[in-house]
Amino acid sequence: MPDVKRLACEQLAAHAEFRRLRSIPGIEVDLRYAGADNFVGRILYGDLDCAWLHCEAAHGLECVVAWLQKRHPALRLRVLDALRPHRVQEQLWQHLEGTDLRQYLADPARGSIHSFGMAVDVTLLDRDGAELDMGTGFDDLSQLSHPDMEIQHLAQGRLSPAQIECRLILRSAMCECGFRAIHSEWWHFDFGDRDRIREHYLRIE
Ligand SMILES: [Zn+2]
Repeated sequence: MPDVKRLACEQLAAHAEFRRLRSIPGIEVDLRYAGADNFVGRILYGDLDCAWLHCEAAHGLECVVAWLQKRHPALRLRVLDALRPHRVQEQLWQHLEGTDLRQYLADPARGSIHSFGMAVDVTLLDRDGAELDMGTGFDDLSQLSHPDMEIQHLAQGRLSPAQIECRLILRSAMCECGFRAIHSEWWHFDFGDRDRIREHYLRIE
């Protein structure tokens, strides 16, 4: 495994490759690991300022805002997680020790794409600011969250056509702007190829 280039979370502001989420007009931000409303049930970011992305992924989100404005002007993008420091990824990994839910997390030994500031967890808001019904909540670690099983869930009545449609709008917006969906979480998107990111980008510790 090649040497990972690392940067401490506290040094982000001094590094030109990274941008604050608040520099992206038109998005809503609600970082779930900054509060206790997450699957671990406690605050994970604490004093860490994690409202950052790599500038390339931030540029991708600007594209998503423009895409939504054009195609679905009533909808807005809400960011649920963005740059997740490696030390927090390790805590999530430890929390799921001994369960089969580790399939939903990147092994810290390889590194989460979130820790490079190149992945986001997102959903859509309606004009009243309510999250669209995607069939499950964020971080519902179950097969109902799997995009690659949606056809099956639809056929068996576990997801409605309206819920699938909401997911399709989100995926279209993200994927037309350079993000890539994954098979197991409707809310997660990587900005580009994971192996390339792991090899060439700075990992935030
Ligand atoms: Zn994610």
